[in-house]
Amino acid sequence: MELLELVEDRSSGYGERLRRDKQGGGYKMTASTFDEIGRVLREHQHFAILGHVRPDGDALGSQLALALSLQQLGKDVRVWNEDGMLEKYSFLPRAELLTKPPATAIDVDVAIALDTAIQNRLGTALAAVGSAKIWVNIDHHSSNPGYGDLVIVDVSAPATGEIIFRLIRSQGLPLDHDIAENLYAAISTDTGSFQYPKTSARTFEIATELVRAGGLNVGKISQQLYENYPRRRLELLRELLRTMRFSEGGRVASFSLTLRTAADLGVLPEDNEGLIDHLRAVRGVIVAVFFEELADGKARVSMRSKDEAVDVCAICQKFGGGGHTLAAGARIRGNLAEVEERVLKEVGDKLEVYQRPSS
Ligand code: 5GP
Ligand code: MN
Repeated sequence: MELLELVEDRSSGYGERLRRDKQGGGYKMTASTFDEIGRVLREHQHFAILGHVRPDGDALGSQLALALSLQQLGKDVRVWNEDGMLEKYSFLPRAELLTKPPATAIDVDVAIALDTAIQNRLGTALAAVGSAKIWVNIDHHSSNPGYGDLVIVDVSAPATGEIIFRLIRSQGLPLDHDIAENLYAAISTDTGSFQYPKTSARTFEIATELVRAGGLNVGKISQQLYENYPRRRLELLRELLRTMRFSEGGRVASFSLTLRTAADLGVLPEDNEGLIDHLRAVRGVIVAVFFEELADGKARVSMRSKDEAVDVCAICQKFGGGGHTLAAGARIRGNLAEVEERVLKEVGDKLEVYQRPSS
C-alpha cells in the first residue's frame, strides 16, 4: 500500500501509525500491521471480542472465528454482541460462545471490535468492557474513523472475515473446520454470495483455502444461509412490495416498514436482512432504500447503490450514519414519512451526477 499521508500519531505504547492512502475518492486506512496485532494476541490472556448491533453474518462469523482461534491458543475469550446470537445464524459452529454482554462490566486485557464502523455501534457490548489495556479495531467500513490503539481498516476487503483470515494465516494462528466455516459464512454473506464489486481474486483464493483447509461442505452452508428462512420473511417481503415506489425516473427504488406491520407479522429485526436486494436488482435502479420505523421515534434507513459515483455512505453520513460506498445505513430522528421525504430528497440531489435525458 502506498503511503501518501501521515494523518495522526498516537502514543499508546504500540507506536501505531494511522496512514491513509487515497483510493477511488475515499480513503483506505490502516494503522497497524498483522505482526503488531499478532504480538498482542500472543502476549495477553483475557480477551473480549465484540461486534456491531443488529449483527450480520460477517460480524458474527468473524467474531466466532477469531474467538475459536484464540481459544485454541489457551486464551480466555468472551464473545459479546448486544443482540446475542441470531436464530438465523445459530447453525454457525460453536455459535453458543457468542452471548449478550453481561450487565456488570468485566476487565479484560484486550478488547477487539470487529466489523464495527464506529465504537458506539458496539452498543451494550461496549459498556460491558470495564477496562481494556488495548483496544483493537479490525474493520472494512470506509466510514471507520480508526478508533482504538491498534487499527486495521481495509476498505478493499469485501468482508471483515477476509481480514481475519489474513491475520490468522499471517500469524500462524489455529485454523480448523469450525473456524473455516465461520469465516466462509462471514465472507459469503458480506459479498452477497461472491457477487458484490469488492469480491476479488483474493476473495476466491481465500474461499478456496477455507473450503480446502476446513473440508467445508459449501452446498450445506449455503442452504443454511440462503434457503432456511422462516416463512414470515417472505410475508414481510410481500408487505414491503405493496409500499414499493420508484422515483428519479426509476433510478431510485424504496419501500418501507411500519411498526404496525412488523408487529402484525411478528417479524424479527434480522428478517429484513437482504430484502433490499430485490430493489437493487431492478434494471435501471441505481439506489435502493429501505425505511424501517423504530420504536424510539427514529427510522432506520438502509441504502444500496449500484454505482461508485453515488456514494450512499456519504449520504448516510449526512444523517449521522455510515457504512460503505455501496451499502450504508443510518438511524434518523423523525416519523417515517418525514424521514422518507428528507432522505429521498438527498438521494435525488446526489443523482444529479446523471445527465437528464436530453430529449
Ligand atoms: P445494512 O443496510 O445492511 O443495515 O447496513 C449496511 C452497512 O451500513 C453495514 O456495513 C452497516 O454496518 C452500515 N450501517 C448501517 N446502519 C448504520 C448506522 O446507523 N450507522 C453506521 N455508522 N453505519 C451503519
Ligand atoms: Mn462487514
